[in-house]
This record gives sequence, structure tokens and C-alpha cells, in this order.
Amino acid sequence: MSPNEAFRLLVRGTVQGVGFRPFVYRLATQLGFSGYVRNVGDGVEIHLENGRANLTEFLEKLREQAPPLARIEAVDWQPAEPTGLKEFRIDRSDGEEPFVFISPDIATCQECLEEINNPEERRYRYPFTNCTNCGPRYTIVLSLPYDRCRTTMSEFDMCTECRREYEDPLDRRYHAQPIACPRCGPQLKLIDLRTRQELQDPLETAVRLIKKGKILAVKGLGGFHLICDATNRKAVNRLRKIKSRQRKPLALMARDLEIIKRYARVQADEEKWLTSPFRPIVLLEKKKDLPGIAPCVETLGFMLPYTPLHYLLLEKIPLVVATSSNRKDAPIIKDDEFINSEICDYLLTHNRRIAMRADDSVMKVIKGKPLFLRRARGFVPFPQPVPESLRVSGEILAVGGELKNTISIYKNGYVITSQFLGDLDDYENFRYFEETLEHLKKLFSFSPELVVSDLHPDFWSTRFARNLKIPHYQVQHHFAHSLAPLLEHRVPPGEKFLGVSWDGYGYGQDGAAWGGEFLLADHGGYERFAHLDYVPLPGGDLASREPWRMAISYLYLAFGNDLPAVKSLRKIPERKRQAVISMIENKINSPLTSSAGRLFDAVSFLCGLTPPAIEYEAEAPSRLEAAAWKLSLRPEGFYPFEIKKDRIPYRLDLSPTIREICRELSKKSPPEIIARKFHLTLARLILKTARLAREERKVNLVVLTGGVFLNRHLLLETQRLLERDGFRVIRPVYYSPGDESLSLGQMAFALYRMKNNRADA
Ligand code: ZN
Ligand code: ZN
Ligand code: FE
Repeated sequence: MSPNEAFRLLVRGTVQGVGFRPFVYRLATQLGFSGYVRNVGDGVEIHLENGRANLTEFLEKLREQAPPLARIEAVDWQPAEPTGLKEFRIDRSDGEEPFVFISPDIATCQECLEEINNPEERRYRYPFTNCTNCGPRYTIVLSLPYDRCRTTMSEFDMCTECRREYEDPLDRRYHAQPIACPRCGPQLKLIDLRTRQELQDPLETAVRLIKKGKILAVKGLGGFHLICDATNRKAVNRLRKIKSRQRKPLALMARDLEIIKRYARVQADEEKWLTSPFRPIVLLEKKKDLPGIAPCVETLGFMLPYTPLHYLLLEKIPLVVATSSNRKDAPIIKDDEFINSEICDYLLTHNRRIAMRADDSVMKVIKGKPLFLRRARGFVPFPQPVPESLRVSGEILAVGGELKNTISIYKNGYVITSQFLGDLDDYENFRYFEETLEHLKKLFSFSPELVVSDLHPDFWSTRFARNLKIPHYQVQHHFAHSLAPLLEHRVPPGEKFLGVSWDGYGYGQDGAAWGGEFLLADHGGYERFAHLDYVPLPGGDLASREPWRMAISYLYLAFGNDLPAVKSLRKIPERKRQAVISMIENKINSPLTSSAGRLFDAVSFLCGLTPPAIEYEAEAPSRLEAAAWKLSLRPEGFYPFEIKKDRIPYRLDLSPTIREICRELSKKSPPEIIARKFHLTLARLILKTARLAREERKVNLVVLTGGVFLNRHLLLETQRLLERDGFRVIRPVYYSPGDESLSLGQMAFALYRMKNNRADA
């Protein structure tokens, strides 16, 4: 660069609180630049002059070598006046910072790992080792700007050594806010919950206890895990009893990939996610069964250690169950006082408080990209940039739905979606919802002038929104589902699309229980183009917990009251069966539903794959999916169905499918084959409906969303058929297709409305 040249760069994205400035400092110094770097409102500003290298080289290295936590969204640059600076320096931030990003929690980095394994290092075997590239973030921040005094680390005074590292721009721990060492940082504590006594050598003793088959609550980043030896059948059974879960799969934490590969098949792209700094639980195909861990499904959920404490614990027990410590369906526990001897035997805890709890994230990996069953630790609070055409100047709150809820906030061109918060019909979860909103408000100095919620009048989130007494929009459930991936993929408003939104339940415009929806939509609104034909939901909510009720409902649709003899129904007493039939006939407590989830329930039960009552959400569909997946030889073929086209919305009638399935069952066809053909049938049904939408309404963009599309089989097959037919298909990638993404979809609608109201005015 010539001496009278200078450049001013603006880097936007997740570039604050992730070691970005020290990185720029090192890079600029290496290349001989003088100038400065500083945080500004919407990113990091860099001033460069006098360098040995040119700007292109700097920009290349900036992108290539950026710290692992940084996400560069954009770099703008322009020529500037040289200032005559002789060196490169890190400048203080310029006071007001309207929107500062905060990094998610990040798994221990390689360098820190080497330190804790090196007896020469002062952090040898120290469980709270971290640096600018790793460690807790979102879960310890109390407010912004991100500085130690506004984290739960403020209670610890840095020792001189730590302070020196913290202040040295060339040190890996320069401005690492959670910096700690054995002298000055948090300490472990092990408590016997029966006697309330504290035990010596917490780490070593804890390892010994786990080996002996005990159950420990272990404090991690976003809350407590219950941990036991995964190969100890007795311990696992006891854990299941405590959690009153007989069948719901338990998550595993393994010391390394080698251990995982003993039990599961790991594809290269799955390995990438397992070892990523975000450390999600990845569902992998079973290779060897681990008794009691994941009965009746074909996958095991594995994660790798993500804190030094986990690494140290797993040194001698290579495989543990690591499930959240809360009671069924309640939020994850973050404080010691909620752990007692009814839950586990020992408590392994420490004195660094958790400011914000967060569960482990759970994903499948489909063609290299995540498919989230739960999005929380490691991914929250990554900002979602909003396309230019939807940016507004106001601040908006979206409160989501009721089940698997999340909150989204909008400010200055970005949406932040909270971690998974659980089902709001549970009071504790509702408290967690309020707590998280307060936290986000503080973190992002956020104060909404508009709120958006679901259409359902009685959801807790809707009531909450109403009580805010600010302008309030309501968005239909499946419309919100369809809009979320559009915002994620930054599709600008204007394009018409077909939202294939399939799930268990969402409140419909007509008051019915929707769930197998095809919406012709754009950002401003939708038309219900087609849906799975209505069937009665005998017993209301009970029908979603007892799949046999849906089986009868579908049989009734297909055969009338002369039901065929299906083997799986023999488990249900005649009297109960008759009661359900008469409920359907007399329309008693049998609201109508177009739910795709309930259709899966019915078929799963008819095939004999599901017990009459389920233990966890989506158990019946998961088992049907597992059966379809089991076959190594992949039979083709599908069942007939009918599209009733006399009026809009078209109704997709599956009674021919059900009749054919019953015929095959009577011929004793294996359930795996029926399950497979059923999946192929639905993919075809979606293709046919999409073709109708294209012919009649000229749409070419299809969105696949809703919890049903967590089904790998259905997702892959549907996407394949649609793409082969020339459709452009998008699906949620960094957000779950389930109800967790409702708040994001609601936000897309609110942004569109706000933008257009203003334009009109
Ligand atoms: Zn580190
Ligand atoms: Zn220290
Ligand atoms: Fe839904």
C-alpha cells in the first residue's frame, strides 16, 4: 500500500465479544499496517494505512483466519484520509452501541484442551479453563456491553497472572471476559445429597461414583445434566424411573468419536457437526444397540464434551447418559437448590452462576445441513439478518405459540430468536418465557412497540401479548410456520409460494384443528389452497396421546361403522372401541382435524408399531419413520388417494390409502413395507398438490415446514420429487421446522406489515 493511501473498513456480523479486535490487531501488525480497530454500533471499524501488504490480501486473511466464533456478514470499505498513525492500536468503543451481538456458548478449543492436559501449565486439569475462542457467553452475560463486570464472572477477582493475560493484546486471553485459573476462578464442589455433606477431591470422587453406578447432577453451561454410566443397565433403568420415562430416547455424551463410532454410523457431515464448536446432540443411525437408551427407534443421540469439566469427567468413563435434570416437560434447572436426593445421588456443582439457562441443541444432519429438533445452546443468540426490503426502524416482539415455544425480537435489521423454552401450558415454563424475555430486553436494550402472537385466543403467549397493551398482530399458526424459512433464507417479499405446513395442531381460521396444510401465500397473507381432509378427533386432546383413537377415526372414515378386523386393535377392549365409534357417530367431543401428525399416529398404530398410549410427543410418528428406515432394500410403490377438487380448499382424502393398508395388513405384509409405502404416498400427494398449485396459480416456490418434516424420510423424498419436477424447495435449516420457529415466522409477517403500513402512510 502506498504511503498516502488509507482505507476505512466496516465489518458487520457477529464480530463483537468474540476476540475479533485482537485478531484484527494481530493480523494488521503482522502485515505491517498502522491504524486502529474499534467496535462501532453495527460492527467493527478498521482503519488501515502504511501496510506492507495490500488491501486485498488483508481482506482475504480477514475472512480466512477470523476467530472461530466470528461470523462475518459483510465487509464494506472505502478510501480514507491517512492519519499518520505510527502503529496499530485497539481503540475503545465509541460510547453508544445500539446493537451489539453476543456470541453463543462455545465448546472448549484445542489450545485450552492442550493446557488442561499439560502438567506444566498453571491451568492443568482446571475445569473452568477458557479463552477468547471458547467458553461460556450467552449463559453468563447479565447485560451488555459484554464486559466481565456485567457477567456472572464479576464475582471473581482476577489474579495478577490472569490480569496480565487479559490485558495483553497478543495473548489468546486478551479481553476474554470469563478468564479464570485455579487461583482466582470458580471451584468445583461435590455434595452427597442424602447427607448434604461435601466430599473431598470432587472430580476424582465423582468419576468413582459414576463408575459405581450412581446418578449425578452435573452443572454445565446452560443448566444441570443428570449423568450416569451409559453401559450400566441398572443405573440407566433407575434414571428412567426417576425421570418417569420408559421409552423416550436418552442423550449420550461420549469421550471421543471413536467411542461414538462403536455404536453408531457417523457420516462425514455428521462428524463435522458433532465436532463443531457448537457441540449439538446429533441423532445418528444405530449400529450397535445400547440397552435401555433408545428403544424402538433407529437412532442414538450423541454429543461430544463441550467444557473442560466434561472432558475431565469422561477421561475414565468414556460414555455417559447426559439428560437434562428437570422433571418431565419442565425447564432445565440452573440452581443447586432445585437438585435433591429424589432426582439423583450426588451433586457436582460450582460457584459460577448461570445467568440464562439453555438446553442442549438437538439436530439431525440432512445432506450436510442441520435439521433442528431443538435449537438452544451453541446457536442462541445468533442474529438473523433481515432483507433490506423488510427492514423497519421500530422494535418488535414475537411471542410464538404454545408448545415448544421461543421468543423472537427485532431490532436494527436483525432478529434474535431465543432458545427453546418448552410448553407454556406448564407454569414453570411460562416463568422461563418471562425470564428469557427480560434477559433479552436487558441484553439488547430492547423495548417493543409492536407485538405479534398466534391466532389462538387462549394460548398463554397470546394472552401475554394482549396484556402488553401495545399494538398487537395475530398470525395463523401454519402461515407463521411457512414464513419462517422465508425470513431465514432472506426471500424478499413479493414472491408467491406454496407453504406445505404439516404438524400436529394449530388453531385454524375456521376454528378447526389444522395440521396438514397447503397455503398459497406471500408475506402479506395466505389462502388455504388444500388440506388433509377433516377427520374427527375422538376425545379431543386425549386423541393425541392415544393413537388408537385416531386409528379408529381413520378406519371409520374409510369403512364407515363396519370396521375391518385389524390385529393391533385387538389390544383395545371392545367396550372402549365402541365408545369411540359412538363418539364419532354422534359428534360428541370429536372436533374436526386436518392434522398430519394424527394421520401418522393412526397409521403407526394400525401397523402395530405403537402402543395404545404414547409416552412422549411424536412417539408414534417416530416409530413409523424408524420402521420405514429399517429396510435396507427400499421397496417402491405407493397407495391410492383422492384429491377432492369441487371447491377451494381442495381436500386430500386418504381413505383409499387406509383401505389399501388394511388389505395389506390382512395379507400379513410386514409393517416396514407398509410404513415405507405410506411415506412415499405422502411425498406423492404433496407433489400432486404442488403441481395443481403451479398449474392453477403459477407458483414455483415450495416451503416444507412444520414438525412433521423432522421426518428425514418424508423430507428427503418430498424434496427429491419436487425438485425433479422443477420446483424450488426451501426448508428451515438453522431453525427447527417445529413450533420453535413460529416466533420467527410471526416476525416476518409483522415486519412486512409495519413496512407497508408506513409506506402507505
Ligand atoms: Zn480456548
Ligand atoms: Zn487467575
Ligand atoms: Fe406447528
